[in-house]
Amino acid sequence: MSEPLHVLCPHCHKTNRVPAARLPEGPRCGACKKGLVDGDVAELGDTALEHFTAKSDLPVLVDFWATWCGPCKAMAPEFRKAAVQWRGKVAFAKVNTEQAQQSSARFGIRSIPTLILFRGGREVGRQSGAMSAAQLNTWLQQQVQ
Ligand code: ZN
Repeated sequence: MSEPLHVLCPHCHKTNRVPAARLPEGPRCGACKKGLVDGDVAELGDTALEHFTAKSDLPVLVDFWATWCGPCKAMAPEFRKAAVQWRGKVAFAKVNTEQAQQSSARFGIRSIPTLILFRGGREVGRQSGAMSAAQLNTWLQQQVQ
């Protein structure tokens, strides 16, 4: 692909235009200068989630979680591990369901953790229940073809 991709900064949520060929080089955000695709997990609220999923040319995997949820906490390091493995291919984000109540309602989140994969602003995959990094990888490989 020669067209630049829209890649959203996981830190400041700014949209960056990056040629796909440059993604493996670990480009930095033009606004905050932090790594764009270093495997960092973006933390999104209601507005940021909508912006992020709509603008990103990379698929966005969102973990809907809550602070009181044990399995969510157990999965967090696995999610971060997978985020590093998928850097430059899939953007990883977390949504705190206690804070982002509009999004939780909109996407009908009934149990957490729930993972939703977005592409072009649309939900293309969903999985509930905690997963290990290995399970996450297998599931994502089935979704992102
Ligand atoms: Zn930034």
